[in-house]
Amino acid sequence: MKVYFLGTGTSQGIPVIGSHHSVCKSKDDRDKRLRVSVWIYDENHSFVIDCGPDFRQQMLTSGCTKLDAILFTHEHADHTAGLDDIRPFFFKQGDIPIYAHQRVIQNLKKRFDYIFEIENKYPGAPSVTVNEVIHNRSFSIGKKTIIPIQVMHGNLQVFGYRIDNFAYLTDVKTIPNSELEKLKNLDILVVNALREEPHSTHFNLEEALNFIALVNPKQSYLTHISHLLGFHEEVQQKLPKNVYLAYDNLEISI
Ligand SMILES: [Zn+2]
Ligand SMILES: [Zn+2]
Repeated sequence: MKVYFLGTGTSQGIPVIGSHHSVCKSKDDRDKRLRVSVWIYDENHSFVIDCGPDFRQQMLTSGCTKLDAILFTHEHADHTAGLDDIRPFFFKQGDIPIYAHQRVIQNLKKRFDYIFEIENKYPGAPSVTVNEVIHNRSFSIGKKTIIPIQVMHGNLQVFGYRIDNFAYLTDVKTIPNSELEKLKNLDILVVNALREEPHSTHFNLEEALNFIALVNPKQSYLTHISHLLGFHEEVQQKLPKNVYLAYDNLEISI
């Protein structure tokens, strides 16, 4: 399978609107980060984790033409605000399956009520089929088994996902010891690292590196990055062996 990094930025993206910060003005394409999401695909599968406000642009840039499912990590706008833009996929394929925690489903129903409308639905509105993700219960998309990993984003529960020997965790601040069992023998771990300064609901760089050392995957990629972390080129040089900063449009094989 391939993992395509659709976006690797924190909630405001990089550049931040109106910012004069040197990273926001960088000429390096790797310093331009859309809101965080990945596209996971092979000849038989094609799904995304999260669907933020840059979803439309990400689908156009990546060339994704089929969407089997959206797996949501949590309800924050940088992970969900693009849901309306599933319309071209819906028009071609019909209802789009979404997978999320019950709390996240309720949140989406409130914010995108017209998508979930059954009677008197506006003809141009997309539809979804809803699948609840339950802690400690794996599920399948096509032939792929997905294992939800429960992590904490401050006080908010968030799901990460393991697929084969690949795991994707974002917006993590702490992780219960019981979940570490599900992260054994990983080839690739993707995890959030916001900046060097501590933050109340996200790993900073040091916390992310400590977590990587604990999980001990073969390779790791950092994502959900703030402009405050610094220039891609400079930060990458400081990272331990087999740890990489992800960047938008990077594609890796798993
Ligand atoms: Zn986020
Ligand atoms: Zn969040």
